[in-house]
Amino acid sequence: MPGKRYSLPNLPYKYNALEPTISEKIMTLHHDKHHLAYVNGANAALDKLEKARQTGFAGIDVRGISRDLAFNASGHTMHSLFWPNMKQGGGGTPGGRIADQINKDFGKFDSFKEQFGNTAKQVEGSGWGILAYEPASDQLITLQAEKHMDLAVQGMTPLLAVDVWEHAYYLDYVNDRAKYVDAWWNVVNWDDVAARFDKVRK
Ligand code: MN
Repeated sequence: MPGKRYSLPNLPYKYNALEPTISEKIMTLHHDKHHLAYVNGANAALDKLEKARQTGFAGIDVRGISRDLAFNASGHTMHSLFWPNMKQGGGGTPGGRIADQINKDFGKFDSFKEQFGNTAKQVEGSGWGILAYEPASDQLITLQAEKHMDLAVQGMTPLLAVDVWEHAYYLDYVNDRAKYVDAWWNVVNWDDVAARFDKVRK
C-alpha cells in the first residue's frame, strides 16, 4: 500500500485579497508555483524512500533524500501556516489567551512586535521569523528558520529518537556509529513510543 502524500491547500482568500500589502501577482506565483514545488518535492522524496523499502537501501542516498524531505515538507508546512496567518483587513492586536501569554512572556505587545520584527529582519539569507510555543518551558519564543527547517520538518512531533552525536556512543563503540545504531534497537522502549503516538493522535 502506498504511503500518504502531501497536497497543495487552496488559499483561504482570493489572490488579490492582501493588496496593497502583497500583490495578486506575488500571491499567485508564491502559492501556485513555489508552494506547489514544495509539495511535489516532498512527495518525490517519499516516493524514493518507498521504492528503497521495496528494493533495499544499498546505494540509496538517504542523506540527500532526507534533506529533500525536510526542506520540502517544511516548506509545505510553513506556507500552510503562512496563508491563514494573514487575512484581508488584518492587523491590530491579538485578543484571548494568546494576548495574555504574549504579555506574560514578552512584557508587552510592542516588545514582542519589536523582537519578532528584528528576528525576521535578521534572518541570514532565506528563511522565516517564527513565533512558537515551546512546551518544555511552557512559553512563547521567537525563532529564526534558515531556509524552512534545519533538517527538521516544522510541525512534526518526535516519537522516537536516536542520539548519534559521538558523545552518545564513542566511549563504547569508538567510531563505529553503525554498530551502535544496530545495537540500539535492543534498548528501545516501544511502550513509550506507542504512548507518545496515542497522545499526539488523540
Ligand atoms: Mn515562500
